[in-house]
Amino acid sequence: MLAEQMTWMEYRDKVKHSVVILPMGSLEQHGPHLPLGVDAVIPTGFAKKVAEKIDGMVLPALTYGYKSQPTSGGGPLFPGTTSLDGETLIHLILDILRDTYRHGGRKFLLLNGHYENVAFATEAVELFLREARDIKAVIVNWWDQVPEALIPEIFAGAGFPGWDTEHAAITETSVMLFFAPELVRKDKIIDDQAKRIPKYSMFPPSKDIVPESGVLYKATYGTREKGEKLVNSVTDAIVEIVKKEL
Ligand SMILES: [Zn+2]
Repeated sequence: MLAEQMTWMEYRDKVKHSVVILPMGSLEQHGPHLPLGVDAVIPTGFAKKVAEKIDGMVLPALTYGYKSQPTSGGGPLFPGTTSLDGETLIHLILDILRDTYRHGGRKFLLLNGHYENVAFATEAVELFLREARDIKAVIVNWWDQVPEALIPEIFAGAGFPGWDTEHAAITETSVMLFFAPELVRKDKIIDDQAKRIPKYSMFPPSKDIVPESGVLYKATYGTREKGEKLVNSVTDAIVEIVKKEL
């Protein structure tokens, strides 16, 4: 199911009949306990699970994304956070869609793991639609598929802060403990929070809107058990979306 592990003949025979899944991530700080690649690792994990259930094909993930913003990812000041200009990201996605189309791909699932990518993925698909009128595409943020009913359980004791603030915190830590526990520095998991979270953007960002650790909320509430529940329910939800829309 992984395009990079197929031969060209296997790819040729599969691409026309499959939902093509493009995981979209970033290279972005995720606190002292999670690696820079979290936003690509998680949607790749979901992409594999979904592909198994729908006989899909998974493209190599985008491991860079749009610019990390201070109140949703810590912003640009952390070493390692390496981001693309919007124009670069739009064209990166558009190039991949165009060439996959040339090979026969018609159904696309863009599976996003990085909050800041959404508008640029939308623009890429909009531009693609102008020339490829027989395609169908869906853009899915994995966190938007967490069932409402699961929120009280996942955030018990901590409270739900909203998805933009949930960075390097409960859900990402939990899902990483399930998908890639070997990458989680378990002795470095902490809770943190910005001194203030303004409801506007400022450039350059003031330091007091970003916690020094890069953890924007309470990561210690993350567990592997929560990760397993999140992964199973979100996978089911994405499979339903694919069946309904693609
Ligand atoms: Zn993230």
